[in-house]
Amino acid sequence: MRGVSERLAAGEVLLADGAIGTMLMARGLEAGACPETFAFERPEALEEIARLYTEAGADLVQANTFGASPLKLAAYGLEARTREIVLRAVECARRGAGEEALVYGSCGPCGRLLEPWGDVSPGEVRESFSTTMRVLAEAGVDAVIVETMTDVSEAAIAVRAAREAMPAVPVVATMTFDRTPRGFFTIMGTGIEEACRALEEAGAAALGSNCGQGSGAMVEIAAEFRRRTALPVAIQPNAGIPRREAGATVWPEPPAFMAARVRDLLRLGVRIVGGCCGTTPEHVRAFREAVEGGGA
Ligand SMILES: [Zn+2]
Repeated sequence: MRGVSERLAAGEVLLADGAIGTMLMARGLEAGACPETFAFERPEALEEIARLYTEAGADLVQANTFGASPLKLAAYGLEARTREIVLRAVECARRGAGEEALVYGSCGPCGRLLEPWGDVSPGEVRESFSTTMRVLAEAGVDAVIVETMTDVSEAAIAVRAAREAMPAVPVVATMTFDRTPRGFFTIMGTGIEEACRALEEAGAAALGSNCGQGSGAMVEIAAEFRRRTALPVAIQPNAGIPRREAGATVWPEPPAFMAARVRDLLRLGVRIVGGCCGTTPEHVRAFREAVEGGGA
């Protein structure tokens, strides 16, 4: 199978998968529980999710390693199991993907605020992400996505940790933005221009946004990224902004609705598309048709 860098260099569009978290909740993950424990408690569920996304037509399926950094796992007393969690999560994704899809390691925020806003130093964050990245390298992932980041310093530390641990593996870096009267900014105040500069400098192979917004706002965010970077842009919207209905969480954007926005993203020249919270294999199936149609 051809790799991510090769396919991006050839001008191809890569289809990533959809949500993992909401898929795990549908398989019994309790609120407040550690999603990464599925690697040893319910490996068959992780394999199933990867298989469902692969069958839906994803080129890239993620390993369930979003929170698998020692700093984040420490919140559950699980930091000593980082290596086991990462290796098993990648194995599960690989089994589900078979020969049909590439596997990427996900790296979300460390869950602590960096100095001067919080109590954790850049060095501690670097050590934590480096630990995870070294295991992802050992597991042989095809790519890494540093995602859902709101602090650009933390995102850059994670990208650099990945580049050091596996120089040949491409790193996609995406941040989560809010709409403000001054434009799109992360909750920590990072704008798109600043994100582009910092993440390019850190060595990202592609950059963009995931989570936080439905597909309409993501088209606006994508257009701004396209104006501000020459690197491939990656966009993974949520299935809208969720609402509570009769005690259940409802994600308002169905597959066909989102697929129309994916066509807009493709017309803008976005090169990696996928879904974030609330998206399902049905969404990815609809995105596949959009990608095959080239945005037409
Ligand atoms: Zn999300």
